[in-house]
Amino acid sequence: MAAGKKREGTTVPPSAWTVEDSLELFQVPAWGKGYFSINAAGHVVVRPDTTADREIDLHEVVQGLSERDLRTPVVVRFSGILAHRLKRLHDVFAQAIVENEYRNKYAAVFPIKVNQQRLVVEEVYRYGKEYGFGLEVGSKPELLAVMAMTEDSPDRLIVCNGFKDSSYIEAVILATKLGRTIIPVVENFAELALILNHAATHAVRPKIGVRVKLASEGSGRWRESAGDRSKFGLFVTEILEMLKVLRERDMLDCLQLVHCHPGSQLQDIRRVKEAINELAHVYAELKQLGAGLQYIDVGGGLGVDYDGSASNFPSSMNYTLVEYANDVVYRIASVCNARNIEHPMIVSESGRAIAAHHSVLIFDVLGHSALDGFTVLPGDIDKLARASLPQPVQDLADAFRSTNPRRLVESYHDAVTARDEALQMFKLGLLSLEHRGLAERLYWATCTKVRDAARKLDEVPDELAELEGILSDTYFCNFSVFQSLPDSWAIDQLFPVMPIHRLDEQPVRKAVLADITCDSDGKIDRFVSLRDTKRTLEVHPLRKDEDYFLAVFLVGAYQETLGDLHNLFGDTHVVHIRLHEEGGWWIEEIVKGDTANRVLEYMEYDVAELYPALARDCERAVRDNRMTVAEGQAIKRFYENELNGYAYLEP
Ligand code: PLP
Repeated sequence: MAAGKKREGTTVPPSAWTVEDSLELFQVPAWGKGYFSINAAGHVVVRPDTTADREIDLHEVVQGLSERDLRTPVVVRFSGILAHRLKRLHDVFAQAIVENEYRNKYAAVFPIKVNQQRLVVEEVYRYGKEYGFGLEVGSKPELLAVMAMTEDSPDRLIVCNGFKDSSYIEAVILATKLGRTIIPVVENFAELALILNHAATHAVRPKIGVRVKLASEGSGRWRESAGDRSKFGLFVTEILEMLKVLRERDMLDCLQLVHCHPGSQLQDIRRVKEAINELAHVYAELKQLGAGLQYIDVGGGLGVDYDGSASNFPSSMNYTLVEYANDVVYRIASVCNARNIEHPMIVSESGRAIAAHHSVLIFDVLGHSALDGFTVLPGDIDKLARASLPQPVQDLADAFRSTNPRRLVESYHDAVTARDEALQMFKLGLLSLEHRGLAERLYWATCTKVRDAARKLDEVPDELAELEGILSDTYFCNFSVFQSLPDSWAIDQLFPVMPIHRLDEQPVRKAVLADITCDSDGKIDRFVSLRDTKRTLEVHPLRKDEDYFLAVFLVGAYQETLGDLHNLFGDTHVVHIRLHEEGGWWIEEIVKGDTANRVLEYMEYDVAELYPALARDCERAVRDNRMTVAEGQAIKRFYENELNGYAYLEP
């Protein structure tokens, strides 16, 4: 802010508000990590390689899409950010390797479950080429996709995790025969026999990995990915048994990789250190026992600072990318150095940290409801004073009238009590609908008056501070939480949300965001803030005949693939936007969102039968003179158009 700091809730004269105020209010530099900012026009800009003069105006993108008949909601992917994330990961490890005199390389393998969309996986694979990065799969279908995608690149690693049946393993062995560097990771003991059998049948010398069940538990939401009770991995006794089996077959050299996955979104660096330390010791012991180990795979877990607080909070992380790389390299190096063992190639299965930043979900606001819109005019008050009203309504009028800065809490208590009594009387049939309506209006008008006066206090009592949330607006937004932000609904994951325009103007309203599904869970009512989470988001008042757009950032990891079809809202439109080398931006790819036809088909409706059924109905109505032919045709055309139209609202 230009002049001094303001308390939350206070307002700055509109002319004094600057885009710097918006940057601070929405904490953009903290979570944006240089990829997002606000330009002088008050629009959010995207800087794919974090360079300030190479930026894309997000509001301009939305308008450009609208000119191409692509309306919000839309997921906008920035390929440049993806490329930059991969480079950054490579660079921080390269630096850590130099600093720790590490005598081997690092490569990431992108777990495609994080965002399986073909275009995303292809881009990660393409951009990762110069760093020798590979891919990780967790199922047979994922492997089948990756086998086709990785032709002609024998050196790039493919790591195969997840439960494996015989045909999954046969596919791995066949890919080995085709020349891929592919490693099935034994997650449970039975998989070893399958690998050995298929390898023998196809005369292939396989590379094998093993997932270690770490004793050090993970942390955060996915803490059970590690520890004794974790679903995957072999106990040390089983690994020793595995070693025995391989030794008997003279195949110790085939055991090439040790792996662990300490959980996703590790918020605390101590967990990373503990897990890597334990894994490094397992590596060293196995190496000394004669295993041909070449790789140490530290799994996923590298976090994303969704709320920008750089703290040990589930939506954040208390370490940087540089610190992570340093810790991983240092721990492995020191264990190997102490035992005089070769340094293995380091592999990480970082998914979230690669993909999250590159996608933004943008949607329009369809309308709003506001509880502080109930006004009581001075004339009304005079009339009320003269009218004979039921006692609780009279009390509410008194509470409203007597509200002043010295008795805010009392007025609020009086209003709450009187409203409860009014409702009680209504339920007993002792209050008319008209008086109940009046009571409601007086109650909300009193709350608003109290809240407005409380905003001017130096210290706001907790009870009155809550009025900010109670009186907040609801902005109805054209998207589905279940489809586009499943982690917000399922595990209360926080994502940064903010308007993408009008940011040179103070957002004077506070709102929660409701989606268009018929479900009260379909909402966002927790927002990022450096101190704690905010229960409301600062937004601008809606203007007549003008669209208002909000965006959710950092949604490139897990959200698209976990989304569901609640209320039959399918995939949103997706576009890939790139910077043009000569300035500006261009649309590299457009993937149109689901039509009503398509989502109905997913649900096994025979879509070929929908239109004929409706047409038959129209013809019967024409036959019975209930409508004209023209009316029947209009209904048919409407229905057909809607079946082929976007599943979201098109105001
Ligand atoms: N590897 C495995 C085995 C996983 O289960 C996961 C996700 O949970 C990942 C890698 C990716 O983790 P992240 O997105 O935290 O990097």
